[in-house]
Amino acid sequence: MLTLEQKIRAKIPGADTGIEIKKTVCDICAPDHHCGIDAYVKDGKVLKVEGTREHPYSHGSLCTKGLCSREYIYRSDRLRTPLRRVGPRGAGRLEPITWEEAYRAVAEGLNRVKKTYGPHSVAFFAGHGKWFRPMMQRFAYDFGSVNFGSDCSVCNVSLIFARIISAGCNYSPDIAHANTFLGWAFGGYYSSYHDVQEVAALKERGGKVILIDTRVTPAAKNLADLFLQIKPGTDGALAHGFAKLIIENGWMDRDFVEQHTFGFEEYKAYVQQFDRKTVSKITGVPEELIYEAAKLYATNGPACINEVCFNLAHNYNGQQNYRAITGLNALTGNFDRAGGALPAVGTYNMRSAGFPTREGAFSGANRPEHPRIGEGRFPLWDMLWGEYQAVTLPEQILGGGDYPIKALFAAGLNVRMLPDTNKTLRALEALDFFVDTDLFLTDAAQYADIVLPVCSSFERGELKVYPGGYAMMTEPVIPPLYQSKTDVEIFSELLPYLGLKDELLEQGYDACIDWILEGTGLSVESLRAAGGAVKAPVAREYIPGSYVAGGMKTPSGKWEFHAQMLDRFTQSHHLEPLATYVDCFADDRDPALAEDYPYILTTGTRVPNTIHSRLHQVPWARSLRPSPLLEISRSDAQELGIAQGEPIEVETPQGRVCAPAKISGKIQKGNVLLVHGYGACDASSLLSSDHLDPYSGFPCYRSSRCMLRKAEE
Ligand code: SF4
Repeated sequence: MLTLEQKIRAKIPGADTGIEIKKTVCDICAPDHHCGIDAYVKDGKVLKVEGTREHPYSHGSLCTKGLCSREYIYRSDRLRTPLRRVGPRGAGRLEPITWEEAYRAVAEGLNRVKKTYGPHSVAFFAGHGKWFRPMMQRFAYDFGSVNFGSDCSVCNVSLIFARIISAGCNYSPDIAHANTFLGWAFGGYYSSYHDVQEVAALKERGGKVILIDTRVTPAAKNLADLFLQIKPGTDGALAHGFAKLIIENGWMDRDFVEQHTFGFEEYKAYVQQFDRKTVSKITGVPEELIYEAAKLYATNGPACINEVCFNLAHNYNGQQNYRAITGLNALTGNFDRAGGALPAVGTYNMRSAGFPTREGAFSGANRPEHPRIGEGRFPLWDMLWGEYQAVTLPEQILGGGDYPIKALFAAGLNVRMLPDTNKTLRALEALDFFVDTDLFLTDAAQYADIVLPVCSSFERGELKVYPGGYAMMTEPVIPPLYQSKTDVEIFSELLPYLGLKDELLEQGYDACIDWILEGTGLSVESLRAAGGAVKAPVAREYIPGSYVAGGMKTPSGKWEFHAQMLDRFTQSHHLEPLATYVDCFADDRDPALAEDYPYILTTGTRVPNTIHSRLHQVPWARSLRPSPLLEISRSDAQELGIAQGEPIEVETPQGRVCAPAKISGKIQKGNVLLVHGYGACDASSLLSSDHLDPYSGFPCYRSSRCMLRKAEE
């Protein structure tokens, strides 16, 4: 029998210990996950976290990052009050002020710029948090500015574009019913651990797994029947090589292609140049493996492809490579088929849950009719995404755009999410007025005139939706720490200070959610009363094949190998309607670059303990990978005369950093990996803000030219 003291130390919940289990979600990574958390709370303090077993998505699991949630929310450097800058921008000299003073200063700063330069000269930017985005976009439009942007500009929308212009919709791989899983850049264990569980189940029922990656990953070791190690940025050539083999060996789904695709003959003629020998030379994958993988994928269906956006999108040829890969779904008849790729309806906050909401109408209300900054540079982006492309924001602030950006209202801006950190910091320095909300005084916040403290997912309630038609409202498990507020509270409370009216947003988050949920059979009240996840009454199980049968939402009503949405940009922007393959350095302006910078720098790779810069300052997480490491191959290390752990310098035309060498058998010769997010060894400072995918505007985190040398001690 335990004593009360022992029970409290063991964190056993009960009336006697005063420990309660309260439900929340982890929002450290993307809303694709937001795993359920059981928070053990006593006297308003979280004692420990566990995964929620009955959660409809995460089923009790949490990844390493989620398990660090308690340390994350209780970081000793949480912002305690609103702050006002009293020193030069970037010096980090700020003084505490009251919320009243902060709101007055924000309203004065934003309205001053509005009056002098017009409302569109104030840009709004949503950084790492996603839960408040519909409200922030509406807030920006209420203010009168069309310029709302977010880190979607460098996240996964490039993948969505490839799907929309090919199939007319987004979709997701149906791993649960597949016989073959083709994981293209599948991070697996370091992100999307849920997918690993599904792939492991597929293997248990006798399915096959093909993985393609630039590095030997844990997934490659643990799950792959076939593993193809590929050179960075050559994925499109491999996909076309697969297509050629599939067509010439009769492995394609002729009925699907004849009835449901557009531009097949053109595509077929184009892929003829991708014979095995050529593809092997481009990609570095042995010819035999190319054949075996194409055959297995095409003949052991149903087969689904999990193309992970980050590794593929962050290349100069990223969008076209995606399209080359996604075309395989149609060629083999795996699109809109159980076990293949199933069309997905966006539900809420970047999540597809099987029922529609009124989010678009909510956030797009009051959108001003005016061109966004940078419009015309990336027409595919302009056509498909209702935000400005944020990689152009620093340049716009620095005067390189069509009209000036003089003020910035940011929520959770991370300067390391954009290429060329120094340029981003120069832009922040040049602003007339800058306000940032965050949990911590980040490098970006140190440039702000006003910093507003916000709270974590543990300190607020929010709507979450999950696949299978599920929705839930979380409740705060502890009160907001210090003087922090939620971002949405801030938008609502700022409206009267700015002299703005928005009857809905003024009423706060719950009223907005009720409006968004109208017609779904759900309400904030009913979700609260349920106390957990419930199925939306309007949610319907998707019947595979019904989207194709009703005609796809493309100009031809079919899958388009020749994407007619791109025809109009071929003359003006050289965008190709076929998924043509070009080298990932096809935009090199100076041929000498390849000689001066002979290695390929990759960054942005997922690691278990952190995402972007988040959690680097959390002791548990940091202890797993205390310092930045430059991963190089054994043969490169030998040629450079570098031993394990010795300092090595990596240089690009943008800058230079130094880190200990991690000599590894996982990376190929000629490639270099630098994990991003470390302040003292900033990978983003090495990247060019001009080396961008011309279709999506995405930066090239996965392929930049660089030079390596042994560093001076
Ligand atoms: S960080 Fe991990 S635990 Fe948290 S939402 Fe993402 S996958 Fe889930």
